[in-house]
Amino acid sequence: DATVIILGAGQAGGQCAASLRRSGFDGRIVLAGSEPHPPYQRPPLSKAYLAGEIGEDRLWLQPPDVWADQKVELRLGVTATAIDRDAKTVRFDDGTTQTYTHLVIATGSRVRPLPVPGADLDGVRYLRTIADIDVLKADFQPGKRIAIVGGGYIGLEAASVAKKLGAQPVVIEAMDRLLARVAVPELSAFYLDAHRTRGVTVELSAQVEAIEGSQGRAGAVLLADGREIVCDSVLVGIGVLPNQELASAAGLTTGNGISVDSECRTSDPAIFAIGDCAEQENWLTGTRIRLESVPNALDQAKHAAAAICGTPAPKPEVPWFWSDQFELKLQTAGVIGQQDTTLQRRPADPAAGHFTLFHLKDGVLIAADCVNDAHGFMAAKMMIAQRAKPDLDDLVNPDVPMKDVMKAALGR
Ligand code: FAD
Repeated sequence: DATVIILGAGQAGGQCAASLRRSGFDGRIVLAGSEPHPPYQRPPLSKAYLAGEIGEDRLWLQPPDVWADQKVELRLGVTATAIDRDAKTVRFDDGTTQTYTHLVIATGSRVRPLPVPGADLDGVRYLRTIADIDVLKADFQPGKRIAIVGGGYIGLEAASVAKKLGAQPVVIEAMDRLLARVAVPELSAFYLDAHRTRGVTVELSAQVEAIEGSQGRAGAVLLADGREIVCDSVLVGIGVLPNQELASAAGLTTGNGISVDSECRTSDPAIFAIGDCAEQENWLTGTRIRLESVPNALDQAKHAAAAICGTPAPKPEVPWFWSDQFELKLQTAGVIGQQDTTLQRRPADPAAGHFTLFHLKDGVLIAADCVNDAHGFMAAKMMIAQRAKPDLDDLVNPDVPMKDVMKAALGR
């Protein structure tokens, strides 16, 4: 009998199970995950859930009882420890072994630990799971000083929630700008200003040397220049590492993630990998990349499900991502890095509070960062998908509506 085992009951794993059923797969589906929760969305963890604005029930990918209705066997609180590719079995840490016809590895990523003395003190936290937030909520209280190590999206979103809740966040970033790994300098500068003007302290080019504490509890972050940032707790957000060890131990090809083809198949045709743990050649960039975003997890889940069912592959999506900080909604379409030009489109009235950065390569729009600009984002996404060459004067002219820029570009 056909049995699909999905390892990792997260965003990608959950979607894959649902898509398999939607595509007509009528064999067994076992969705096994280390966490005790049914599949849930992580983005609200550093946003509305951390802020206490929504409850756990709003995190679920679908109402928990629907999994049984779809005949998806949820096995929660179990971790896969080994894959035997010859026997087509997976071993779990509860001593059980299960046989598959197809295996989907959707093990996601884990937080990168802060490699300094004192990082194991009580009060040093990370932000990845529901369990993490349940602990963190005690720190995000009025008046509490929270040292946030890492000025990436997670750190900045947490800083914005901390400020909203009346705490005192200090963002400590090792590079000379925020979001250095994922954004162009113009966007970094915008967010630096946005945070500082809203009362967040941001320290750039600040190397953390140690976490200091007393009686086993963190009380300060020591910087390489000798400065000490006194705090009540430390939140570390310095990136993630793909959970690929299970795959490499089974002899599957890995790089920065588990290597997969356009169907999300690994070097073993019976095994797929999807989501944060997978590295794939991106159809837009032509390079092998590992994306850490919900749209990518969902897209790859649908591709793997289609390949397993033998149904037509969905159209590949333009990669995209979002981040909410204060009243600022950033939506990024495409992948930055290959652009030779960045152009800014601003409304004539700067008080309007929205703008878009367009990134082009040889005149082709390859990416866009849109702040509070949903129209700009939708238009950019469609143009990127078509590898359109928009008129550059119109693109930055706020008097030419984005839909007209797009229409002209798609018709060219
Ligand atoms: P995950 O959702 O991490 O799921 C993997 C699951 O596999 C985990 O539950 C893990 O415990 C389990 N697992 C690992 N190893 C094993 C094993 N051996 N056996 C069984 N189970 C295992 N993306 C956006 O697009 N927009 C955002 O605004 C955004 N905000 C984010 C905010 C936070 C705080 C975080 C942490 C992430 C955010 N992301 C955001 C990223 C997004 O959540 C991830 O890209 C997405 O969750 C990836 O899905 P996944 O299924 O690959 O991994």
